[in-house]
Amino acid sequence: AKELGRNNFQFFSEDMNRSIMEHLALEKEISEALTREQFSLVFQPKISLFDFHITGVETLLRWNHPEKGFIPPDRFIPVAEETGQILEIGSWVLEQSCRQISSLIRSKVLPPTTKVAVNLSARQFNDPSLLNRIRSVIEISKIPPQCLELELTESTLMDDVESAIVTMQEIKKIGISIAIDDFGTGYSSLAYIKRFPIDVLKVDRSFVMDIPGDQNDMAITAAVIAMAHKLSMTVVAEGVETEEQLHFLRRNNCDEGQGYLFSRPLSLAQLHQFLSEHQRR
Ligand code: C2E
Ligand code: CA
Ligand code: CA
Ligand code: CA
Repeated sequence: AKELGRNNFQFFSEDMNRSIMEHLALEKEISEALTREQFSLVFQPKISLFDFHITGVETLLRWNHPEKGFIPPDRFIPVAEETGQILEIGSWVLEQSCRQISSLIRSKVLPPTTKVAVNLSARQFNDPSLLNRIRSVIEISKIPPQCLELELTESTLMDDVESAIVTMQEIKKIGISIAIDDFGTGYSSLAYIKRFPIDVLKVDRSFVMDIPGDQNDMAITAAVIAMAHKLSMTVVAEGVETEEQLHFLRRNNCDEGQGYLFSRPLSLAQLHQFLSEHQRR
């Protein structure tokens, strides 16, 4: 048994070593990606479930590595969050999102009510320079603040509830709206949800995924929509892939949907194309 234990320890430590090495390699490659412009943005439309007009777009980060190809955000964002590189990446995402979407709004390709939703990591949200950064991005890109929405996860807000409320109120004063991302997967309590100035609640894809098969997911989704409406929030369902899901969400008065049924995340050129086709219909 002792022998086995030692071997296990060795395996464990080799594994650890490998993951530390990978982590270090990734950290170096992320800083190269920033200077060598390997990052780009795609935009996924959000659709009104009442009349199917486009209410906004969510910005999603893409990394095209010269040798390794496409590296998904779920793999490198947690590393960038740990190393702090997410601050630089996040600033770039915020500024580019506002520039690109603001140009579409100003050239009247998108209506002035369109929102651009940007994901904010915990580190960014807690960064003391966040508000100044946002203000300067709004000035540079000339985007109306009402067109900007920030997506925050529950865990970001639960770190320090009191200071999160203050930061959210400051964001709201600028005119920006706040969405809670992946709702239902975090550990926030309803007692806090009612204290946060939240405009939009995004029902996590894990609840939408098994509709209409899973009775529990359907009950939870319907209840979350009803609760959010009582709290005057707009509800967006994530990961809508099928007509059945769409029908269920419409029956339950969900306001907006986002997912492959409507559109995959699109490059700016593809978004342009999508909009012209969508408006013709
Ligand atoms: P998220 O914010 O929950 O973004 C939604 C994810 O679901 C995106 O994955 C999107 O491509 C995917 N998705 C959209 N519709 C469907 C669908 O119908 N079916 C399925 N199966 N998936 C769908 P993506 O782009 O790989 O991003 C993953 C996560 O990485 C995001 O989850 C977000 O947490 C993070 N992320 C992406 N871009 C950024 C960014 O600029 N900043 C930060 N902080 N995080 C980001
Ligand atoms: Ca999001
Ligand atoms: Ca989400
Ligand atoms: Ca997610």
